[in-house]
Order: sequence, then C-alpha cells, then structure tokens
Amino acid sequence: MIFTDRAKTVLEIRYLLKNEKGEPIENPEQLFQRVSSYIAQAEKIYKKNSFEWEEKFHELISSLRFLPNSPALMNAGKPKAQLAACFVLPIEDSIESIFKTLKDAALILQSGGGTGFNFSSLRPKGDVVRSTGGVASGPVSFMKIFDKASDIIKQGGARRGANMGVLRVDHPDIFEFIRIKRIESLSNFNISVAVTDSFMEALFKNDYFPLINPRTKEVVRKVKAKDIFDEIVESAWETGDPGVIFIDTINRSNPTPHIGQIDSTNPCGEQPLLPYEACILGSLNLSKYVKEGKIDFERLEHDVKTATRFLDDAIDVTHYPVPEVEKMHKGNRKIGLGIMGWADCLVELGIPYNHKKALALAEQVMQFISEKSHKASQELAQERGVFPNFKGSVWEKKGIPMRNATTTTIAPTGTISIIADCSSGIEPYFLLAYKQRILDTEFEIINKYLIEIAQKQGFYSEDFINQLRQKGTLRGMKEVPLRIKRLFKTALEITPEEHIQMQASFQKYTDNAVSKTINLSQRTRKEDVARIFILAYKKGLKGITIFRYGSKRGTLLKISDAH
Ligand code: UDP
Repeated sequence: MIFTDRAKTVLEIRYLLKNEKGEPIENPEQLFQRVSSYIAQAEKIYKKNSFEWEEKFHELISSLRFLPNSPALMNAGKPKAQLAACFVLPIEDSIESIFKTLKDAALILQSGGGTGFNFSSLRPKGDVVRSTGGVASGPVSFMKIFDKASDIIKQGGARRGANMGVLRVDHPDIFEFIRIKRIESLSNFNISVAVTDSFMEALFKNDYFPLINPRTKEVVRKVKAKDIFDEIVESAWETGDPGVIFIDTINRSNPTPHIGQIDSTNPCGEQPLLPYEACILGSLNLSKYVKEGKIDFERLEHDVKTATRFLDDAIDVTHYPVPEVEKMHKGNRKIGLGIMGWADCLVELGIPYNHKKALALAEQVMQFISEKSHKASQELAQERGVFPNFKGSVWEKKGIPMRNATTTTIAPTGTISIIADCSSGIEPYFLLAYKQRILDTEFEIINKYLIEIAQKQGFYSEDFINQLRQKGTLRGMKEVPLRIKRLFKTALEITPEEHIQMQASFQKYTDNAVSKTINLSQRTRKEDVARIFILAYKKGLKGITIFRYGSKRGTLLKISDAH
C-alpha cells in the first residue's frame, strides 16, 4: 500500500489503534484489515460467509477506491464501535429535554460523530417561564452551553467536535441567531437558517413575514422578509455563517414522512435527518476509475454494490451511544454513499471543472451511482428484508422494496480524501500548491497531476514551481498553455454560478444532500451573495454555504480543510 507522508501522519495521529502509552499498535495495513473484518461480522447475522465479504471489503478499501467515514475507520473493532459520522438530536422546550440532548450530544461527540440540532421549539428570549416565574433566555443562550460543552469534551475525544445549529426563519429570535457569529466565535458550531417556501415567496413579493412564538403559536410581530434576508446576507458575507437550508425542499424528498419531519442536517449540511436519526457515510474515490481516458463504469458498478453492502452491514455492528438513535437508525437504515476525487477525475479526463461537459458527466456519474446503489439496496432487501419503517414510506408507494431509506450522500471527505490522496468531495482544487501543518509537521502539497503534465509538456522548471508556490494558481504564467490553465482553474477562478451548477448537477441524483462550499473572492459584494442564495433556491438545492475569501470565519469545518 502506498500512502503519502501526510496520509501516514494523519493515520498515526488519529486512526491507528494505540496502547495506553499512546503508541500505535497497528500499521495502516492492519487498520484496513481491522475495519474489513469487523464490518463483515454483520454477514453472520444473515448466515452469510463473513470471510468472503471481509476479503471483498478489504480489497475495496485497501486499494483506496472507497473509504467509509472517519468514525468507522477509527472505531471499528473497539469495544464501543460507533461508526456513524452524522446525527441529529431533538430539542424540546423544557430544561429536561435540553439537558438530555446535551448529554446525548456529549456521548456522540466523544465517539467522533457530528450532531445537528434545531433550536426552534425553544421559546424566545424574554418569554415567560411559568414554573419559575422567570424570563426565558432564548435559543441562542442554549447554543452557547452546547458550544462550551463541546469545547471541553473534544479535548478528550476522537476529533474536533462539530455541531450544526439550526433556527427556523419564523422564530422571533431569528435576528439574534443570524448575527451570533459576528459577535461570538461559537467555534464548535456551523449555523444555518431553515428557510421555508413561504418565506421565499414573501421575499420575492417584498412582503411582510410573521415571526411566531413556538410556545403559544401566536404571531409576535411581522417584519419585512427582505430585512431578515439582508441580515443573513450581511452575516454570511462577513463570516461565512449562517448557511441556509431549504427546509421545504428537504422535506419534499423525505422518504419516511410517516415517521417524522426533517428539521435539521448534520454539521456540514450533506445529511438531512429526522430527530434521533443517524447515517453512516462512505465515498468512492473517482480518481481511481479513469481507464484509457474514460470512466470505467463496469468497475464502478461492481464497487457501488460492494460499498452499499458494506454500509448496510456497518449499521448492524455499530455501537450506538444513545438507544433512541439505535431505534431510529435501524428503523430507516439510511446510508450515504458518495464520491471524492471529482476534481482529480476531471483532470484525468481532460475536462475543465467549469465546462458544460463536466456538469453533464456529474449528472451521468451520479445517476449511475444512484441507480446502482438503489438496485443493490433492493437486492439486500430480498436477502434481508426491507427497512423496518418501509410500510407507509415513499418507497412503498412507488412499489420499490428497499433495504435503506436513502443510499446516497456527498460528504466533504475532509480527512478521508487526505488518506486516499485525492481531491476532496466534489470540490475544485482550492490551490495548486499550499502548505498544511499537521501537529508539528509542515507538509507541502503540490498538485501531482500538474507536476506530471508540466514534465510531459516541457514547462516544468524550478522557476515554474517557485511561481506556483507563491501564487497557488497558474494565472499569469506565460509558459503554461491556455488549455492547461483552463484544466487547472482553482475554486476562486470558477464563478459562483458554476459552483452552484455543479452542486445542482450532483444533487439531482443524490437522495440526501451535497456538501459544497461556494467559494467567493474577497471582492464579492453583498448583492452577489444575495443573488447566489436565491439562485440556490431556484435550482432546487437543499442548502447552501458560502465562504468569501479573507472573511472572518469562526468554524474550521466549512472551507474544506483538505484543499
Ligand atoms: N465530522 C465531525 N467532525 C469533524 C469532521 C467531520 O463531526 O472534524 C462529521 C460531520 O457530521 C460531517 C461528517 O462528519 O458532516 C463528514 O465529514 P467529512 O466527510 O469531512 O469526514 P471524514 O470522514 O473525511 O473525516
């Protein structure tokens, strides 16, 4: 197995099993063995040959064509093998509910999972608290408690604690929520406003929009929809937060509306979930599927099938830190198979990221993965039965027996793409040369495809590399042919519309959602941000996150760390 030095360092710090002195007691090869063998134990439940599947899983992951989300790599085989990356927990309007969820969140965080919460059921600031005769402090004050707790737990936990805080656009405290990241770092939270269709209609008509007290259901006051929207734009422009989730769009594709409404996503936005639901993600590394200038669809089909089975198996051998989550996840059996290495794959095919051929290919690839994973889930249903909440689901109405309520999600792949040495998720390259510090070691990353092409085409030189180190892009380099410059356009050289179109092309064939940061240059104006949010809604995206280069940014997770 060939790992880059950076991958070896990441594996050593976070993923390899350690003894009590903190020394690794396995190597990366043994890590993959541990993961494959642990997941394949699930096959025994269905009276299948676990060794056969262990070998298949091992071949798939050790070739770096597929990797499951980090918690699966870290925790498989441990006594508390929590394998899921994504969770959503409910919060009701009582101290008991808030602190029960805080405890559950602490346990999830400790296991390396990220959690989303919708705080909208909490009565607004200044409302009455009958039991004490006091005054309510509002959702934002409770978010601060969650943030502080995350700070403390993460010090002993597996990785940085990630949370998503959501507030509905019609909550009376919406302005305070939108502004919070301009005032406080709240560094363990990404925040998103849950925007409804009726809000967007009010915005388009330049109408007033009612803010409603969730406790009394009464309209507290009416404000111009544009005033709320402008506040979202202002804060997002300044800090990257809040993002927006289009909650009605999300619920239109809720596969199990009879079980509940979706009111939040996981921390990076790619996974809408019901309260108490979890999801295990895994990503195929598309850079490994280019053969003779084409995508090898035959091999892809084969691997989609194995990866789908891997993720379904993972549910059965996960140790759930919260019993309610176990019940919900085993009821819907959501899994999220996606891709990484998209920018690499396009370079290998010679297609610029912002060319219409890239959009067409994105749709073709994702449609293919979606169809084949649905087919694999149907075959699993024949073998193992449909997911327990199938009756009453959208799948039942369509007459399609499924083992999993959803099968596809596109994750950021922040860390697993480093392990697999590929570009992250569906993002374009952020820079072609950059430095990254991991603990005490500084790594220099220069795009490996670019080096190869530069050598082949004869523009490789010390001077070329030095210029690249300085700029990070090919802009202004006379010795580089135009065709190559187009092929290696970086995130900030791609227009926001092109970023959104790529997200939309993938979303079209993704059951869950797509993680994507719309990277904007520093000089992007607020009007541009407003236009981008509206375009995202019109394109049918489930959510949108922007990041303006150089803007103040509290959280670490959004601009994919691995660029
Ligand atoms: N996540 C988290 N903490 C982190 C990174 C990720 O809790 O430091 C969770 C979060 O729910 C995120 C999901 O894992 O949306 C997937 O993130 P990513 O694909 O970057 O994870 P990887 O598997 O590459 O570590």
